[in-house]
Amino acid sequence: AKSQGANRFLFFNDAMNQLAVKRLQIENLIRYGLKEDFFCVYYQPKLDIITGQLVGMEALVRFNTPKGGLISPASFIPIAEETGQIIEIGEVVLRKACQDVKRWIDQGLFDGRVAVNLSSRQFALPFLCEQIDQILQETELPSYHLELEITEGTVMQSPKLAIETMKKLRARGMHLAMDDFGTGYSSLAYLKQFPLNTLKIDKIFIDDLNTARGRNMVDTIVTIAHNLNLTVVAEGVEQLEQVEMLHKLRCQIIQGYYYSKPISANDFSTFLQEIKQK
Ligand code: C2E
Ligand code: CA
Ligand code: CA
Ligand code: CA
Repeated sequence: AKSQGANRFLFFNDAMNQLAVKRLQIENLIRYGLKEDFFCVYYQPKLDIITGQLVGMEALVRFNTPKGGLISPASFIPIAEETGQIIEIGEVVLRKACQDVKRWIDQGLFDGRVAVNLSSRQFALPFLCEQIDQILQETELPSYHLELEITEGTVMQSPKLAIETMKKLRARGMHLAMDDFGTGYSSLAYLKQFPLNTLKIDKIFIDDLNTARGRNMVDTIVTIAHNLNLTVVAEGVEQLEQVEMLHKLRCQIIQGYYYSKPISANDFSTFLQEIKQK
């Protein structure tokens, strides 16, 4: 039994090493990708559930490998968070999103908001507002075209400080959305104090809309949001039945594969031209 325990320990150690190696490989890949400009931004439309009109889009980072393959953020964001590289990735995404949207506005193709995700590490930067100011100035994008998505987990790390940062961002004209709402622990007392514009209901609740419990949950979230004067966005909407149910439950905006997967800036540009002609 003793030797078995020792073996298990060895195995565990080995697994740990493999993890560390994998981590280091990804860290190096990210560094290389930042240097060679391999990060790009995909866009997923957000639609008004009643009119079907495009109201905005979410910018989602992708790692574009030289061979043309795409690496999804799930495989590198957690490590980039740990190493702090997410700060630089976030800056790249923000700059690219602002550039793209400025172009679409100038071309008369778009007049809404682009939503960019902010990681906890970015949100905690003491110079976050100045960094965003600089990117907006550089790209000549008016601040009201920018929305920032911040998760419940991020703001709850230090709610008082978060409120101050959020107020500064709002004072500059940006919109703020609470992302993945319902998956964290924000107390209602805090929710009331956060200067938000939007609540995004997480996909796990949308997946659950075919159960009475799930519908009740979404109903409750929408009611809370409306009491606080917030717009509700449902993410991860895949089926017509979900759209119909969300409409019944008074959710205003939908985002999901039902309408479109995230697409490249080029494809989004084509899409904007197509809907304009209609
Ligand atoms: P998120 O912010 O909750 O973004 C929504 C995710 O759901 C996206 O995954 C999107 O592609 C996916 N999605 C949208 N509609 C559907 C649907 O109908 N069905 C399914 N199955 N999935 C759907 P993605 O692009 O892989 O991003 C995953 C997460 O990575 C994001 O979750 C966000 O937390 C993070 N992320 C992505 N881009 C950035 C970024 O630029 N900065 C930061 N900090 N995080 C990012
Ligand atoms: Ca998001
Ligand atoms: Ca989300
Ligand atoms: Ca989510």
